[in-house]
Amino acid sequence: MNSEHSPLEIFRHCPKCGSQSFKPDTEKSLKCGSCGFRYFINMAAAVAAIIRNEKNEVLFTIRKHDPAIGMLDLPGGFVDLGETAEKALFREIHEELNLTINKMEFVGTFTNKYIYGDIEYLTLDLVFNCTVESFHNLQVADDVSGYIFRDTKIVQPENIGLESIRKIVRFLTSQKL
Ligand SMILES: [Zn+2]
Repeated sequence: MNSEHSPLEIFRHCPKCGSQSFKPDTEKSLKCGSCGFRYFINMAAAVAAIIRNEKNEVLFTIRKHDPAIGMLDLPGGFVDLGETAEKALFREIHEELNLTINKMEFVGTFTNKYIYGDIEYLTLDLVFNCTVESFHNLQVADDVSGYIFRDTKIVQPENIGLESIRKIVRFLTSQKL
């Protein structure tokens, strides 16, 4: 966890009282020496969808923004505050691809590090196999600039932007899902 992008290194002031005596307390928390407030670094939840066409190829999106702009990704995104993973998946697939999920099945979870604004966020990616009503209305939007359908066996890992997505694709290939 400890790196130059870790909140342990970057956070300098207590978010409650503003004191500068805000220091790492454990490997996952910081504590204020003035008011005693303790801040815990938690993982953010994210969802990713495996959507296949009739040839069993997986739908990959192309990232519109950094990190990993222009690289392959799986559709999905962060779970909003108070949102379920299922609702987040349904919402993200609609926002990014204008598709409507009609069936989803939980596959497993993968951990990821995501650097944004020079700060490292740890995420827990929840992966689901999904089917959609139809590909007829497929249209990219939001933080996606394009899409391709690819057999996971022929996707080059270096073309996938995020480590957790590479792990998921390796897993899919090994499981022959
Ligand atoms: Zn404080």
